[in-house]
Amino acid sequence: RFITVEGIDGAGKSTHLQALVDRLRQRGATVLATREPGGTPLAEALRTLVLAQPMDVLCEALLVFAARRDHVRQVIEPALARGETVVCDRFTDASFAYQGGGRGADPAQLAALEAWVHGELRPDLTLWFDLPADVAATRRAAARAPDRFERQDEAFFGRVRAAYAARWAAEPQRIARIDATPPPAAVWTAIARVLDERGW
Ligand code: C5P
Repeated sequence: RFITVEGIDGAGKSTHLQALVDRLRQRGATVLATREPGGTPLAEALRTLVLAQPMDVLCEALLVFAARRDHVRQVIEPALARGETVVCDRFTDASFAYQGGGRGADPAQLAALEAWVHGELRPDLTLWFDLPADVAATRRAAARAPDRFERQDEAFFGRVRAAYAARWAAEPQRIARIDATPPPAAVWTAIARVLDERGW
């Protein structure tokens, strides 16, 4: 099983990731938790570059997909082949949301990169933490030092959110929308319900 977690910065996905991994383990799965961009030494180095360095959006998309290529080949596919459950903090939906919706990369080009880089591999389940951009901005302001994406304005995150919403509308069976507005305990209940439905 391949599970990914998505949402705009400040939506709270990090808060629930460990609980998600713990629940899957309690039910007997061997879980590999990883993240994007990153997950291998090369991909983490590319992450550092992409987060620190302003660049044109096509360059950004190519670097993120280069990192993804390494991560898929070195980590994700081998773990799935061993029968493990992979939980990944962001994956290709984030490219459609950030490079596509946020920065205007052509979705057809992103889809071509997706096919090129990871062929038939798609998440079995994507948990999308959905939160209005203004609420997320308030939560981010109370948290950590922002990277160059987190310093983007509300309009940017509005576009990122709209791109996630379009992905969800196109693939509602794969993508589960989790309303991230309520307090954490209620958000967790919603996550647990999605897992219950699948017997996970
Ligand atoms: O989820 P995490 O906070 O680790 O993501 C790091 C940063 O990289 C975030 O600000 C996120 O918006 C950005 N990002 C991106 N494009 C991706 C994946 C992540 O701009 N494809």
